[in-house]
Amino acid sequence: MNRPKKEIVLSAEQSRRLADIYTAMEEGYDQVASKIGLSCQGCSDNCCDSYFLHHTYSEWAYLRQGLAELPEEERKAIIGRAEKYVLESREQLAGQQRPQIRCPLLNEDGLCGLYKHRLLVCRMHGIPATMTRPDGQSMRFPGCFRCQEIVNKKYHQEEDAPAMDRTPLFKAMVALESSLLGGKRHLFPRVKMTIADMIVQGPPAVDTPHCER
Ligand code: SF4
Ligand code: SF4
Repeated sequence: MNRPKKEIVLSAEQSRRLADIYTAMEEGYDQVASKIGLSCQGCSDNCCDSYFLHHTYSEWAYLRQGLAELPEEERKAIIGRAEKYVLESREQLAGQQRPQIRCPLLNEDGLCGLYKHRLLVCRMHGIPATMTRPDGQSMRFPGCFRCQEIVNKKYHQEEDAPAMDRTPLFKAMVALESSLLGGKRHLFPRVKMTIADMIVQGPPAVDTPHCER
């Protein structure tokens, strides 16, 4: 017998917390981008066809919230594109290729169809960033190709360029994820999905524990 699944839903307060994290990311991004002089305007390398994997139930649930609010027609079109994406990406991965396929949320005008609900990676990709991992190790990310070109011309060395510290925002994200999963993150299967996977699979759901059936 199939076990009943329980949908993982963000409360209103948790949704607000995620929206606040996203806003802080955008503000941090804008500050660093403006100091460096990076703009996506006219960029030939649209990163919305990059193959990114996402890792939290919180973002998955928030994306699904946005999808549920769209008009039926639009949602169906997105689901159709997501199904195609999943098939194509599987084929490309099977051929040892890193998939490069337009995100199913990109609309015909080349704009994000769920801009307010786009994921962390969509908001952070581009500028240089730093992060201190829980084990104390420091990391630095150079930013996108366009950003690296600017940095190479403008700064003596890469480390001289301003960078956004992702650490506090990632900590806030981990705390939110923990609150969403009732402090039992370790008991839930790991999320490692593309946006298309999140759309095709439906809302996040897990097997209902015996005590709750
Ligand atoms: S983040 Fe970088 S690669 Fe992506 S569109 Fe903006 S400038 Fe282009
Ligand atoms: S969610 Fe939006 S911003 Fe992110 S890759 Fe898709 S279209 Fe681009």
